[in-house]
Amino acid sequence: MDILIKNGSIIDGTGRNAYSADVLINNDTIVEIGKDLTVENCEVIDASNRIVAPGFIDMHNHADLTILKVNTAAAYLMQGVTTMVVSVCGIGLAPANEKVRKYYTDFITKLFGSGELVLYDTLEDYFDKIEKAGISPNLTFLIPHGNVRCCVLGVEERPPTEAELEEMKEIVKEGMEAGAFGLSTGLMYPPGSVATTEELIELCKVVRHYGGIYDSHMRNEGTGVLTEGMGELIRIAGEADIQAQISHWKAGGVFAWKLTPDMISLLKRIRNEGLNIYADMYPYEEGATSLSGILLPPWVFEDFDKNLSDPETRKKIVNETFNTIFSTFLSDLPWLFRVLPKCLIKKLIFAYFKRKVRILSVVHNHRVEGKFLGQALETLYPDKTFMDALLDFLRDEEGGIMVSFKIMNERKSIIKLIQQDFVAIGSDGFLVYKGNTHPRSYGCFPKILGNYVREKRLFSLEEGIRKMTGLPARILGIGDRGVIQRGKKADIVVFDPNAILDKSTYENGCQFPEGIDFVIVNGKITVANGKHIGTLSGKILRRSKNMGNHDL
Ligand SMILES: [Zn+2]
Repeated sequence: MDILIKNGSIIDGTGRNAYSADVLINNDTIVEIGKDLTVENCEVIDASNRIVAPGFIDMHNHADLTILKVNTAAAYLMQGVTTMVVSVCGIGLAPANEKVRKYYTDFITKLFGSGELVLYDTLEDYFDKIEKAGISPNLTFLIPHGNVRCCVLGVEERPPTEAELEEMKEIVKEGMEAGAFGLSTGLMYPPGSVATTEELIELCKVVRHYGGIYDSHMRNEGTGVLTEGMGELIRIAGEADIQAQISHWKAGGVFAWKLTPDMISLLKRIRNEGLNIYADMYPYEEGATSLSGILLPPWVFEDFDKNLSDPETRKKIVNETFNTIFSTFLSDLPWLFRVLPKCLIKKLIFAYFKRKVRILSVVHNHRVEGKFLGQALETLYPDKTFMDALLDFLRDEEGGIMVSFKIMNERKSIIKLIQQDFVAIGSDGFLVYKGNTHPRSYGCFPKILGNYVREKRLFSLEEGIRKMTGLPARILGIGDRGVIQRGKKADIVVFDPNAILDKSTYENGCQFPEGIDFVIVNGKITVANGKHIGTLSGKILRRSKNMGNHDL
């Protein structure tokens, strides 16, 4: 049956001003836009005093890790998201072989507390599995570089030989032919952290051949963001002649905030010189990460429980952990801090961890979710020293402790970056099926429209919508979505611009937003009157070689 959206104010995703019209949908396509449309026998949505916009596209999302467990993806559909770019940061469930499976069992499942992950030999295998199960949102996949490297080199920390590089290129080629939109990297942690720039350039040349993009969690997001981070990405984009995307763009850490104007002018200059580089961002000051990932040396993961129980090994871990924290934190600090006595710095770091690091989610003791680390450890291990309690906590939660802490500053950095017209919105969230999560997974898009547009007036509603629809569609080269025009696919959101707002908090991240009435995916109503009704009309979107960009 046709769907007729009546009396709405259309914001079409191109940045053009809102206008009043009705929208008629037939099957999965927008077939008519005009005043006072009437059609017999159709489902009518009254959009009076509502905005009718293209479905939101999340440029950066980790939903692929759990989509088969949460195929309704309600956390995102309820925000108005109809398409998500997944397998980002170099991490994903395909492609895989035995080496990759071992790496994920030893390392990734513990890092994220994700439980057992089922991996697939190829992206095509995973696509089949997802399509058979059915999903609510559309997904566009990137090829995770971590898997590509691990398939060939395992976790070896060396550059590939000529033959190995050829093997990696072949895997990338296979992924692009399956319909991936590009290559994603995570260069701050293994195995991406050991990849050389040259390796990435060679792989990107293959991606370029298929018209895909290079999407990167850069090697440095702190005080080295201009050189080690953006500098490397710009070199890759230039030498491989490829369009590039900066994932979760940020000036991370108090000493990097002052670099914000330089980050903007660098990217503007490079774009003016003709390189096609974009970025995506989420509107939160706290980032999320894995506590075991930032604290524990990689060898601990191989025999996790035993290593974290044996007293002698624990001593070794404490030493190495402290050295890691020490070098990570101090590398960004002014020289003045480096001459302070080590024991004083230790005290400062411990105090920071106790009071500023917040537990988002754990595997077992859910009652500590939302608390700060110090409170959590006092609750669970009242008689232990901080370091002993911390190691017990990591062991008892099997490593799966996600934490958040403030690394960005809205006024000094986020606002200036996000206002740039080449910045799209990407939540960097996960789809969780139990426990708490970072508020961005339930609130990122409504926060932009409620808080950044309506309350803070950082940009117009039309521009806010463009950043989450027309712009990401253009970045990806998806010509038939992201805008409301006749002939385009019917991914649509109907919301109240005066009411839309995020409700999720760090203490309770799993709260749906307000103000979103209807969400339509491929012409099927998925959210009706503010409730997810279980529709599974999402698709795996595949990139074809001759996919064009639409004009904006
Ligand atoms: Zn990332």
